[in-house]
Amino acid sequence: MQRVYMDANATTPLAPEVLEAMRPYWIDRFGNASSIHLDGQHAHAAVDRARATLAEFFNCHDAEVVFNSGGTEGDNTAIFGLLRPGDHFVTTSIEHSAILAAAERMAELGVEVTFVAPTASGLIDPAEIQRALRPETRLISVMLANNETGVLQPVEEIGRIAKASGVFFHIDAVQGAGKVPFDVRRFGCHLCSISAHKMHGPKGVGAMFVRRGTPVESLLVGGSHERRRRAGTENVPGIVGLAKAAELAMLALEDGTIPRLAALRDRLEAGILALPGTGVNGATPQSAPEGRRENSPGQAQRSPGKDANIGHAPRRGAASLSVHQGPEFRTWESTNPIIVHENSANPVPRVANTTNIWFDHLEGEALVIALDLKGVAVSGGSACHSGATEPSHVLMAMGLNKTRARASLRFSLLRTATEADVDYALKVVPEAVEHLRAISPVTAGTAG
Ligand code: PLP
Repeated sequence: MQRVYMDANATTPLAPEVLEAMRPYWIDRFGNASSIHLDGQHAHAAVDRARATLAEFFNCHDAEVVFNSGGTEGDNTAIFGLLRPGDHFVTTSIEHSAILAAAERMAELGVEVTFVAPTASGLIDPAEIQRALRPETRLISVMLANNETGVLQPVEEIGRIAKASGVFFHIDAVQGAGKVPFDVRRFGCHLCSISAHKMHGPKGVGAMFVRRGTPVESLLVGGSHERRRRAGTENVPGIVGLAKAAELAMLALEDGTIPRLAALRDRLEAGILALPGTGVNGATPQSAPEGRRENSPGQAQRSPGKDANIGHAPRRGAASLSVHQGPEFRTWESTNPIIVHENSANPVPRVANTTNIWFDHLEGEALVIALDLKGVAVSGGSACHSGATEPSHVLMAMGLNKTRARASLRFSLLRTATEADVDYALKVVPEAVEHLRAISPVTAGTAG
């Protein structure tokens, strides 16, 4: 059976070039980069070369690159490495769990945390970040692109706010890296986390930009690796693979791959939206009010202001009613022509490979399984905790009700996606949707 993988935001396969680049470092060039003999020197030189490539990728100095085990470690390091009891931390309610769970732990240890809610379109309003700041705020952490909706956040604007306020700024760029023009100086951040396996590199390796002078404490202690910023013998093959993946990602940003991907995504999206009872999460401000109208009575529909967002746990379902279309977003969009694939139906900036679509009158999980059986791999917006399927915290924060959040699917295309992949998905998705709706209709908007 034909298989079409449309879950690139979960992980990606190694690019063949990455595998080839890594190959020698498993067996022939196996040395420990800390050893002084020739084998160690070969490994050390490979890590140095990789560091130079990553410095180019981030647009920073070589000494500002720290290799680690991936996005979770980078995100945890920013939070555990900078915050102390009594500090205040500003983040958002749509971050990855690597941020949210770390924030919750710090809250238990005496750090005050503010989770800023998104607009109904999934955007974080920089003005809300500004409003959340206090004299004791030490760190802001906002993601570059949301993993579920693909919505790009106005990090440059937030970077300016952080600078003006003297607050450290971390960007979780795990989903944006390799998909949008990348420049930590332009973003104005002090820390930035990326992960190799989201961009056709190996799993279990990543890197962090740490701006010179940022007093972030190492999560792991032991040897003096990575200038004492991350103890542990370097994963040389992984680091070499990450560097190759970063090199390929930089090429892909310039060779037409991104607009090609955006066109494929748009065709897929338009084809699915031709089905009745569907809509996009995070793309059209017009699609949001319907979701809000169906909010259950107990669900917060409005972000009631600065203090209401403050707490020790993310406020689920607390989306601001205002869809932010202020001039700063337009400015930000227009300076990033590649990342903004704008048409009248999709005015919110998104990465080119992602669309998140709701389907009324069915269960998202059932559709994921039905599509998998037909050879199409996609992901639902829900997470399984102790056997219970929880609707996506991201979609809930945007104001969707539980039923619609549970009935939402993420399609995220690999860089290598083809027209034939989209053709196949457009054949299979309508069949599966019609079949599921016929056998087990779920009444949209009734469940809480
Ligand atoms: N941050 C975001 C936005 C992600 O999507 C992910 C992975 O899905 C992570 C962090 C964690 O990255 P890793 O899998 O490298 O630990």
